[in-house]
Order: sequence, then structure tokens, then C-alpha cells
Amino acid sequence: MADQQESGQEVKSLIEKAERTHQLTERELVRLLGDAACTERLAEAADRVRKAYVGDGVHLRGLIEFSNICRQDCMYCGLRRDNPKTERYRLDADTIVDLARKAKGYGYHTVVLQSGEDLYFTTERLCAILREIKKLDLAITLSIGERTREEYAAFREAGADRYLLRIETTDRALYEKLDPGMSWANRDRCLHDLRDLGYEVGTGTLVGLPGQTLGMLARDILYYQELDADMLGIGPLIPNGDTPLGKAEPGDFNLTRRMVSLLRLLLPEANIPATTAMETMVPRGREIILASGANVVMPNVTEGDYRRKYALYPGKICVADTPADCRACMGGRIKAMGRYVAQDKGFRRHRASQAI
Ligand code: SAH
Ligand code: SF4
Repeated sequence: MADQQESGQEVKSLIEKAERTHQLTERELVRLLGDAACTERLAEAADRVRKAYVGDGVHLRGLIEFSNICRQDCMYCGLRRDNPKTERYRLDADTIVDLARKAKGYGYHTVVLQSGEDLYFTTERLCAILREIKKLDLAITLSIGERTREEYAAFREAGADRYLLRIETTDRALYEKLDPGMSWANRDRCLHDLRDLGYEVGTGTLVGLPGQTLGMLARDILYYQELDADMLGIGPLIPNGDTPLGKAEPGDFNLTRRMVSLLRLLLPEANIPATTAMETMVPRGREIILASGANVVMPNVTEGDYRRKYALYPGKICVADTPADCRACMGGRIKAMGRYVAQDKGFRRHRASQAI
């Protein structure tokens, strides 16, 4: 009993320290990540920091899944090149620009262009699309995997503002085991190139990879602090039966939630999405995460059967919905939480010096 009280006290003071100083050591992070009993308290602290630093506005980013063709073979992902079951598609330039125009019509101020690593989209082809979308006065986020510094520079020049590239795990050996043929150093290089080129940089962790430890998750958080990441996407592994990790255990929802809360505490200004994968695991999962430190949602703008075919993992929500359904649904849910849909482009606000 005395032990329990002591440990409760320790956790309480660690959360207070994180809320006040936005710093924790690796050992302290492991302590909190490993303590399921502190999930709610951590979420409450993260929610206060979220309100103080980024406010009650929730930024909606319209997600366009424009190709599910991929040259990589990540062991967890349904789009991996060795998965013959994925019915492949690639949208043409006009269709992509048209979806962006519709996204603007739904009131989104950002579009996220996401795909497998599809080299059909050369610099020339992609830059032409970016320039067209830019005419619509939208912020553009790219999420198309690893490219050279020169390509990233060209995309930036053509109008891309942000880039999402999860490091997945900062443990090199685990990364290279689960992403065969890829090098951790190259992924790290990509993130630093993107930073240097003036992108807002988004990265993040796939929680629940087989062999991943709490120490690795703690080091992921410290890596994001060092990188000064602008955006952090965290999601649980959802085993995909058509991949080598089909029989793996799913990532733990509340561990993923603690990870989100700790990220808000340690990177208070960051834009943090409540990811679709969280809601695939738990009904209303995105509301739970929005109340645990997150301030962004990425509703799907992809239309028709392409939604189903962009199957990173099984059980993806809303595959039968239209983009208009998603906009109306998310808007209502955000209001019901006492929050509001932000009306600006939602760039990171630098307020590091402000004490709360
Ligand atoms: N090809 C690009 C973008 C598309 S994949 C890239 O890899 O960066 C986007 C994200 O989906 C990946 O970063 C990965 O973290 C996530 N993902 C893939 N398979 C998943 C699965 N089975 N469960 C949960 N998330 C998955
Ligand atoms: Fe391709 Fe991205 Fe899936 Fe890896 S995670 S197989 S790079 S789509």
C-alpha cells in the first residue's frame, strides 16, 4: 500500500514536471509510458497544455490518397509491393487537382497528398500538380515517402508547405528489419533535408511494432524534440492479414494515447493529429485522442472505391462515406466537444518562450 502511494506520488510529480518544464528524461518517459494507471491524468495535463499553446481550434486537413502503388515492402503495410491482393490504382493529374478543388469547397484549408512510393510521379509530373493546386490558395502537405534532396527542393519550390514522413521507430535495427531494403540513416537524412528546405516537418511512430520497447518509444519522443518536429502522427499497428505481420498483436490503444499525451507535453506547439487508425481500434477513438493532446484531424477526401483500395490496414473506417459525409460528421463531433473547426491554414505557431 505504502509502495503504491509512493509510486502514485512519483507519477504525479513527473506529470507536473512535464506540464511545467516540457522536459523529461528517457527514464522518466519510460516510467510514464509503462504505467497504464496514469493514462487519464496524463491526458488531462496534455489537454491543458494543448489549450494553452494551440487553443481550441481543430485543424481539418483533407486527405487525398492519390496512388496505392509502392516500390517499398514494409512488413506491416497493405500497400507493400509484394502484396498481390491490393488492387492498384493511380489517379491522374486532373482528378487529383479536382479533388483538391472539392476539398476547398468543403472548407478545408490544407490538402494532404499521400501515396505509396510511386515513382511514376516524377518531379516534373508532381510539380505541375502542386502548381495547379497552389492556385487554389490551399496549404499543401506531401506524404509520398523517401526522395532525394533535389526532389524535395523542387516540390517546395512548386508549392509544397509541409511533409509527413514517419520515422516509424528510431531503433535502427528494428526499422531495417521491418522495412527491408530501406535504411534508417536515409529516412533520418530525408527528415533533416526537409527541415533545411523550410518545410513544416511531420514525423511519428508506429506503436506496437513487434520487438519495440518502452525505451525505444521514449527515445522516439526525445528524437522528435531534437528534430523540433512541427507535426507528429502517432498510430497503433493494425495487423494486416495480407502482410508478414498479419498475425502480430495490435498496438495498444492506451499506450498510443499516452504517447500522444507525452508528445503534447514535451512538444507543446506541435500540430498533432488524432489519427484514423485510433478510431479503427476504438469507436470514437479520434475524440478520445483530441481530448488527450491532439488538435488536428485528417478527414478523407478520396472518393468512391479508391478509399477501400487504399488499404494500409484492415477495418479502415468510413470507406463507404463520401467526402461531404466526413466533413459534416467531423464538424459536428468537434462542436459537440466544445471545440471549433479552425478557419486558418494551421501553420505551427512558434510560442516556445511563452510560459503557461
Ligand atoms: N508511403 C508513405 C505514405 C503512406 S504510408 C510512407 O510510407 O511514408 C503512411 C503510414 O501508414 C506509414 O507511415 C505507417 O506508419 C502507416 N501504416 C502502414 N501500415 C500500417 C498498419 N498495418 N497499421 C497502422 N499503420 C500503418
Ligand atoms: Fe509503401 Fe509507405 Fe506502405 Fe511502406 S508504409 S509499403 S513506403 S505505402
